[in-house]
Amino acid sequence: MSETNNKNEGKMEAIVSLCKRRGFVYPSSEIYGGFAGVYDFGPLGVELETNLKNHWWKVMVQKRLDIVGLDSSIFMNPKIWEASGHTKGFSDPMTECKECNTRIRVDKVLEEISVTADEKMSEEEINKLFDENKNKIKCQKCGKQNFSKVKKFNLLVQSNLGDFTDNGDAPSYLRGETCQGIYVNFDNVVDSTHMKLPFGIAQIGKAFRNEISPRQFLFRGREFEQMEMQYFTHPDNEMEEYEKLKDYRWKAILSLGIKPENLKWKRHENLVFYAKDAWDIEYNFPWGFDELEGVHARGNYDLTQHSKGSGKELNYYDQEKNERFIPHIIESSTGVGRLFFAVINDAFTEEEVEGETRIVLKFNKKIAPVKIAILPLSKKEELVKPALDIFNTLNESFVCQYDETQSIGKRYRRQDEIGTPYCVTVDFDTLTDNAVTVRDRDTMKQERIKIVDLDNYLLEKLG
Ligand code: ATP
Repeated sequence: MSETNNKNEGKMEAIVSLCKRRGFVYPSSEIYGGFAGVYDFGPLGVELETNLKNHWWKVMVQKRLDIVGLDSSIFMNPKIWEASGHTKGFSDPMTECKECNTRIRVDKVLEEISVTADEKMSEEEINKLFDENKNKIKCQKCGKQNFSKVKKFNLLVQSNLGDFTDNGDAPSYLRGETCQGIYVNFDNVVDSTHMKLPFGIAQIGKAFRNEISPRQFLFRGREFEQMEMQYFTHPDNEMEEYEKLKDYRWKAILSLGIKPENLKWKRHENLVFYAKDAWDIEYNFPWGFDELEGVHARGNYDLTQHSKGSGKELNYYDQEKNERFIPHIIESSTGVGRLFFAVINDAFTEEEVEGETRIVLKFNKKIAPVKIAILPLSKKEELVKPALDIFNTLNESFVCQYDETQSIGKRYRRQDEIGTPYCVTVDFDTLTDNAVTVRDRDTMKQERIKIVDLDNYLLEKLG
């Protein structure tokens, strides 16, 4: 293994371990031996996740006159997944190691040896490509090279909801993506809001995929959350709006404080037949650049398919131009887990301080899960009381933590590890000077601030 790989694996392990130790992310069902591809967000994880979702909602809905929100159901009429093409085409190519039965996603292992498998390839074509290259591929688990024939594996997760027959011939699905709920509500939104084209519908919600090999922590889960926005345009304006959306999304991700050098655009080489153009925003994860978000121009495929599938014409009438047409769609689609992983990876810093390693999550202040920690120097009642008073005042405006355990040094390190921008220490001088020490996470500089000025001081710092 190369030195870079070692370093990157080390970083991955350090992040996963910090996430568990400090209550960001736990493996699901851990006391029962776990459950592959599923994670639970702990007390700090849920705060960070909420901040990321709120940021997205603000940027994509609340700041926009032309975009509205939606929260559609996870279960939908199964005909939706037929019309969208998911029951037939939502699949990844899979092979099985005949030695240890590990399932392997073929397009991804080919990608690792720089061979591109086109999504549109038939089973026969992908088998041929795999056969030509499989001598360069080893099973990720046992290292052997004895693979089964490649077959296409459908990712839709089936359920038995609403199936009251004995032969089980009416499967319903947990949604594989959130955007189908947007397409099928297009008419409802137009009728109830009188939105005029171009306009968008945005939603955040869970999606489920039977991923062949869930791995890389939150990057590829079987249950995950998406933040998707579908923007409906006149066919003539699709590409102009597409460029605007690409620019808007790029800036929105940068505004989370992610380092620009860790982001890049990648164009899809093989477009699906209906797409006009497709780019992904990639983030530099510990194993290298990989998809964080897709921004795609989808033509009129989605509304056309649902018009055919439902028998209801999903089109738009422009009164001024007296013109009726099927809107074209451009979309942006991000996974909450991938963004969560990216912001932690980006913020993760190890520094040498007085001969010791300090781990700090240097989050942008607006997404830090805890903004301020209030720390009495000792557990003595005379310090605890004013410290709790400060906690109760500041928590009106900020997410705060109160902590009186262990030495002050250990408490600072703990707050550094969870990325708290400011620590407020109440000490014995506080009893006479009515002031506290405020410590800055990044510079570790300390300032003495009067308690009466504290709220304004922190408001200014945290914005
Ligand atoms: P990939 O090629 O990595 O499988 P995709 O192109 O199938 O991803 P999309 O269907 O375009 O992904 O989904 C949109 C977004 O949803 C992705 O950019 C990603 O952020 C997120 N996403 C997709 N699949 C997963 C997953 N299994 N776990 C976590 N997030 C996911």
